Amino acid sequence: MMIIMRTDADQEQIDHVVERVQHFGLRAHLSTGEERTIIGAIGDGRPVDKDLFLYLPGVDRVVPITRPYKLASREFRPQNTVFPVNGVQLGSDQILIIAGPCSVESRTQLLETAQAVKEAGAHALRGGAFKPRTSPYSFQGMGEQGLELLAEARELTGMPIVTEVMTPEQIPLVTRYADVLQIGARNMQNYSLLHAIGESQYPVLLKRGMMSTIEELLMAAEYILSHGNRRVMLCERGIRTFETATRNTTDINAIPVLKSLTHLPVILDPSHSTGQWSLVTAIARAAIAAGADGLIIEVHPNPSEALSDGGQSLKPERFAELISQIKLIGQVVGRKINSSEHNELH
Ligand code: PEP
Ligand code: MN
Repeated sequence: MMIIMRTDADQEQIDHVVERVQHFGLRAHLSTGEERTIIGAIGDGRPVDKDLFLYLPGVDRVVPITRPYKLASREFRPQNTVFPVNGVQLGSDQILIIAGPCSVESRTQLLETAQAVKEAGAHALRGGAFKPRTSPYSFQGMGEQGLELLAEARELTGMPIVTEVMTPEQIPLVTRYADVLQIGARNMQNYSLLHAIGESQYPVLLKRGMMSTIEELLMAAEYILSHGNRRVMLCERGIRTFETATRNTTDINAIPVLKSLTHLPVILDPSHSTGQWSLVTAIARAAIAAGADGLIIEVHPNPSEALSDGGQSLKPERFAELISQIKLIGQVVGRKINSSEHNELH
């Protein structure tokens, strides 16, 4: 349930409510808004009498959170969650652009791509060092060596690194290099990974499972939030449907649906959602028009030689063209793209 404090409630009253919430074996999660504080009292689903809190000093009202995801819901936090990524206030009117290769393949490939996407206007660099491949015989990523190259690319360009972590055991290693932890579609319901990443307190890019519902995605986000990590961005990356003309089907609906159900920022990955480079720009435009807070795009200097996802990777020139189109669409819907001058994550 949500304990909604009066607008004039003071810190002592808030602390007292938190203490009572914990006293009854519930977890207290604070949402501090501009006007008032809301205290989420989260138990294990068993009914709790709201009168326990209703008459405490400073409490305005107590209302149930009707959604199964509590902390992720807009009911709990009506205002957008906004957090900075390299100077971009993700979740505000500023669009975040993450770009880079599917996999880190070599020093030249990565540094060349990093510089090109930065020049074109990207704010953060993506690149997988640990790759979740459908086939055990496909390239599995460069591992720690890949992470070292990502760190070198960050040094060179100032762009923060977004990279996938596949197991809880990899977190200490990956967090030595990464700025944002990516949870891949295949791991969206890996609950021990979600739990461990929740505890890591690193910003998270959580991808929707290819066969997961929007509610399941939000429940996955809830795992991370419930461990006190609030910097979660959700990523639609296409779902499996009966359609075979494209690798996945972009669920463009998911963008406004998610924006209405949750306060978390929502981005689109048109590279994976289409699987074809020639469709990426059109679907990126659609995402921004539909209200996405950002994009993650695969870019490769020589897609025909890519070790993974070459067919859906844009050449740097095409990526630059995508950015200029996104700027125009952004203007129509009141969003802007900051230039990528800033050099820090926080
Ligand atoms: C990726 O980003 O390269 C990737 C493996 O994506 P997904 O988890 O969405 O398939
Ligand atoms: Mn990929």
